[in-house]
Amino acid sequence: MRAEIIAIGSELTNGEKLDTNSQWLSTQLASVGISTHFHTTIADHLDELVEQLRLSIRRSDLVLITGGLGPTLDDLTRQAMAELTGADLALDENSLQIIENMFLQRDREMPERNRIQALFPQGSEPIENMHGTAPGIWMEVPRENLNTNCCIAAMPGVPSEMKPMFTQSILPRLSTGTNVIRFARINCFGMGESKTEEILGDITSRGRDPEVGITAHEATITLRIKATGKSVEVCEQKISETCDLIHERIGDYIYGYEDEELEHVVVALLSERGQTLATCECGTGGLLSYRLTDVTGSTTCYAGGTISGMPGLPADQQNNLVDDGYQFSASGAISLAKETREKYASNYALSIVLDVNQSWQDAENIPQAFIALVAEGVELVEEIGLTVNRAIAKSRVTKAALNLLRSDLTRL
Ligand code: AMP
Ligand code: MG
Repeated sequence: MRAEIIAIGSELTNGEKLDTNSQWLSTQLASVGISTHFHTTIADHLDELVEQLRLSIRRSDLVLITGGLGPTLDDLTRQAMAELTGADLALDENSLQIIENMFLQRDREMPERNRIQALFPQGSEPIENMHGTAPGIWMEVPRENLNTNCCIAAMPGVPSEMKPMFTQSILPRLSTGTNVIRFARINCFGMGESKTEEILGDITSRGRDPEVGITAHEATITLRIKATGKSVEVCEQKISETCDLIHERIGDYIYGYEDEELEHVVVALLSERGQTLATCECGTGGLLSYRLTDVTGSTTCYAGGTISGMPGLPADQQNNLVDDGYQFSASGAISLAKETREKYASNYALSIVLDVNQSWQDAENIPQAFIALVAEGVELVEEIGLTVNRAIAKSRVTKAALNLLRSDLTRL
């Protein structure tokens, strides 16, 4: 069964609100083995809604709609569904009764405008809304040149009304097929998107089962695995085999799974060993420390950190925790890490120096950073060329520092 989702509302297309309903619905459909092929977000314009519905019923077996069922003039979903089939809108007495009762219970008179919520395209079916005034609409539409119907389910836009309606009233109507779909994510750091794809080769080819997609966010590469099978166990087995293959090819770059970030892994590794870490950051505004302190349990392994002055400032303007002899260089980063390790008496110290005085827009003057890791018998330093804007540079360089420590901790 091919499904698609249409989110209706001008507040969504003009950027005031984010369409979270489609995401939720897609995950629900996937859990019963239904693939979603399209998400469409569309403004409150009748002609465009009808045009969209015409396209959607041709290409999908199931069309889920959210939004546009309210009582106001901009709510046009029922009118669009009626126009799609050429049906009139007819009053459903039972729905009207339910809506009127809802107002009575709240000790209010039903505004005339709410009557429209009891109107349904002829041939469609009302779906009760236990949490609000807008009933949903279920409609089956024959498709040109096809022997099958397309099922359309229109639900309210308000997530707290839409979710129970979907679970209680829509899901049981769906022929959910014999398959289930399961997803998994592998998180990697240290290699670009295209290089990752090159090394993974056939594993990422389209049409493979499980399917493996690659996305990148601030230098973190996420491999998204989608498996289809007769049962959850079958899917999990397929996912596990694909994970093993990926490990064989890019194991060193993999740091975690699902929502795991580098800081979670670093804190877990340090805690396991009963070891501690201190940090010193120039130019990142304390982002490394922020990431670490965000992790539950970090208090036992994170000894503390210094947010120091910026490279390039005269020594007397620098934070006095930075050594007077400090320079924006590899050796400067190392000495900063050494001082930090001593100051906090920690097992490990990480230092970051990001030259924020350079403009990232100036191609001749690419901002650069050094990261250093110091521990007993360990002195590592990396130079990082960053051709990205400042916010992303900060994010990347702090991740690179965490990854430097992770690599060292997993090497042992
Ligand atoms: P409507 O059913 O169109 O009257 O929508 C009512 C309210 O539900 C809107 O004002 C939004 O706050 C919310 N809403 C509508 N569509 C969505 C959506 N796709 N995702 C999240 N919230 C939504
Ligand atoms: Mg609306």
